Amino acid sequence: MCLWHAKGGINAMSTETTCPYCGVGCGIRITGGVVSGDPSHPANFGRLCSKGSALGETLSMDGRLLAPEIGGVVTDWDTALDLVAKRFADTIAVHGPDSVALYVSGQLLTEDYYAVNKFAKGFLGTGNIDSNSRLCMASAVAGHKRAFDEDIVPGIYEDLELADLVVLVGSNTAWCHPVIYQRILAAREARPGMRIVVVDPRRTATCEGADLHLPLALGTDVALFSGLLARLAPQSDDVAITTALAQTPDVATTALACGLREADVETFFAWFAATPKVVTLFSQGVNQSTVGADKVNAIINVHVVTGRIGLPGAGPFSITGQPNAMGGREVGALSNMLAAHLDWDRPGDANIVRSHWQAPNLAKAPGKKAVDLFKAIGDARIRAVWIMATNPAVSMPESEAVRAALLGCETVVISECMRAADSVDYAHIRLPALGWGEKNGTVTNSERVISRQRPFLPAPGLARQDWDIIADVAARMGWGAQFAWRGPADIFREHATLSGLGNDGRRIFDISALAALDDDGYDMMVPTRWPCPAGRESTARLFTGGLGARLVATPIRAPAHVASRDYPLLLNTGRIRDQWHTMTRTGKSTRLHAHLSEPFLEIHPADADGMADQTLVRVDSRYGHAVLRVRIDPSQRRGNVFAPMHWTDQFSPAGRVNPLVNGDVDPVSGQPELKHTPVRIAPFDARWHGFILSAERLSPKLAEWSTVFPSGEAWRHELAGQNDPALEFARLRDACTVPGAWLVLRDPAHALFRAALIDDGKLRACVFLGRTSALPPRDWLISLFARDRITMAERRALLAGRPAEGLVPEQAVCACFAIGAREIGAAIRSGCETVEEVGVSTKAGTNCGSCRPEIRALLAKVTA
Ligand code: SF4
Repeated sequence: MCLWHAKGGINAMSTETTCPYCGVGCGIRITGGVVSGDPSHPANFGRLCSKGSALGETLSMDGRLLAPEIGGVVTDWDTALDLVAKRFADTIAVHGPDSVALYVSGQLLTEDYYAVNKFAKGFLGTGNIDSNSRLCMASAVAGHKRAFDEDIVPGIYEDLELADLVVLVGSNTAWCHPVIYQRILAAREARPGMRIVVVDPRRTATCEGADLHLPLALGTDVALFSGLLARLAPQSDDVAITTALAQTPDVATTALACGLREADVETFFAWFAATPKVVTLFSQGVNQSTVGADKVNAIINVHVVTGRIGLPGAGPFSITGQPNAMGGREVGALSNMLAAHLDWDRPGDANIVRSHWQAPNLAKAPGKKAVDLFKAIGDARIRAVWIMATNPAVSMPESEAVRAALLGCETVVISECMRAADSVDYAHIRLPALGWGEKNGTVTNSERVISRQRPFLPAPGLARQDWDIIADVAARMGWGAQFAWRGPADIFREHATLSGLGNDGRRIFDISALAALDDDGYDMMVPTRWPCPAGRESTARLFTGGLGARLVATPIRAPAHVASRDYPLLLNTGRIRDQWHTMTRTGKSTRLHAHLSEPFLEIHPADADGMADQTLVRVDSRYGHAVLRVRIDPSQRRGNVFAPMHWTDQFSPAGRVNPLVNGDVDPVSGQPELKHTPVRIAPFDARWHGFILSAERLSPKLAEWSTVFPSGEAWRHELAGQNDPALEFARLRDACTVPGAWLVLRDPAHALFRAALIDDGKLRACVFLGRTSALPPRDWLISLFARDRITMAERRALLAGRPAEGLVPEQAVCACFAIGAREIGAAIRSGCETVEEVGVSTKAGTNCGSCRPEIRALLAKVTA
């Protein structure tokens, strides 16, 4: 039987909930308003990464959407929901059910996800509901279904600790799933014979802990694992194996196809062949590709052929980016799925759903996947769209085309907790949703563990939970009886019941035992791994009794685009350690901006074409452009550049990277190729560089290039422009609206402009412009904002731009304790030889551990 059990109550002083960020799904304990890791949660056993640790700093009401709006005017719920129901009903009446769509999110709780999928497929009668999970792990879903007939992650996190070889493919685990990475490193510390191989074109922080790094050419993972399959299964009639043998018969061919050294490929193959317990963990570097599903199957193939699956410490392991991508897959909230792992193309499945939902109008076929869905909005095949908890104007590829599509759409409804989010600007009807800490339901992490997200904050303003909003619209459209839930427990029971219908072991996803939970049992549910079938045994690890998995032939296919003379570099996009998605939450934390505060482009020195480190460059692709800060980095693969995907109009309008990214998709999974777009770069010719520090947040659109972020006592606005600096100086001072008197220093001959706004002796803003980006240290100036009164000497120093001695800014390495490379370097030079010794000396790396790979890199650099 499954192992769920209720436990002794949630007291008002302590709430156990789940982190809202990545797919690790760490348990969080809130005690007296303080966030800590839940020591009893099986994902993290008390650990948290820098993002999870800073959750308490992201809960302010700044930028929240707190009341419904129509056309930008605040209204009441009845008026807003009447209009949503009418617009959707009218559109369907005239243009049919496939003229409407919903675009939802892996941020939704399972209950919200279930409700919206039921609403769209069951009652609107359209398959046009897709999720931003399409951008994240649709290729893993497709690969699982091809191999296992069902979207199944066979293993559990413990396997990563039990393995003797962990292969991390297309995954900067150290930054994107930091708690899992810490668990892997801790396991290796306990068993030094354990090995870690990283397969990634970039030398990321994850490589700091690796025994071998394979910096393969972008998109060549299929060739690598095809070569490994040929090595492990040298003879067979199976088409997958004969394909591998034909295309990558040996190490030399594989190395050539992947752009790797033969010796490294041989080492990897030999280690894999000699190690029965291997886990291959993969993530977006595998999935976000026009050959993503094939990459997934190439990985699964080697595990299936060699029996390295279903055993402790062995198996392929897809780790999801989002907190509830798995929950969305369980309820079928992707356009090509029905609920509860039921399928349109399996006879009888649609009837199970139709009858459980009392939904005679169930959609007859799959709907459009994300990229096609927005294209259909663009050419008015879809005329009404409801977007929930996601920011497609930023996160979709070819995002300028997505913006144009939304701008031209007849009806755009958005349910969001944030008012300050790019996509919200495009909505005709805005519905305030609850955020993390306020909503109530469940999420499922990457190892199939269902955890409760519990509220510990009151609902702000008029905000409501998504399922509740959906149920109200459904009732207005005549389906009140089918959406008459009293709370999330009712929805969860309905979902759990559906998972067991017509099942009898046919589908592994079965949580029917949980359908028996009463409201108290649901409230107190502890983390519970599925399957949990009613009346049948189940195991944590799947396929323990062997499996009839299918091998899938994975012929090597070229990427959709290749570098050319016009666009000679290949752009790879991804995440950074301390930001999450489009920064609507993590962007509020000073601490999380201390590590990497500006959008950037990493480039190999040989590709930089004379451009200096830290200068601004314009990046162009066939689809759009961006302006980014160059980071010259020898760990980049030559010919590749990397840029993070987090920045938005709210933080750096010119620093958005998805306008650059092509919209080609994997033909099997529909997942877009976010990691492989040809681009070119050129210097961004700024006539001036500058910054504003201000007690208030100013517009992020103050100059051709700008970045805004909180920095302790002040908001920091970094700027660069191409207009006359003297005119810009006046305009930027005018942009500061806090009261006070300006002290001004102007030296146009040297393009030197400085001003400080003082009110009642207190520094309220300062504006600095110069010809180059060599401007006074911001940390020193920001420290002056904390003073009740600044002295005459400080006023003079302020305009002179000379900091107090010893205060030279530096980037934080350890976000938890704000410790920079200088302090860590000093500790190393004073004798610290290990990460642990640095921790004892400085505290760096002793909390969440996310920065430990960088401390390790500093150790290597300083002692080299
Ligand atoms: Fe949250 Fe970090 Fe855990 Fe991911 S690893 S769930 S971001 S605390």
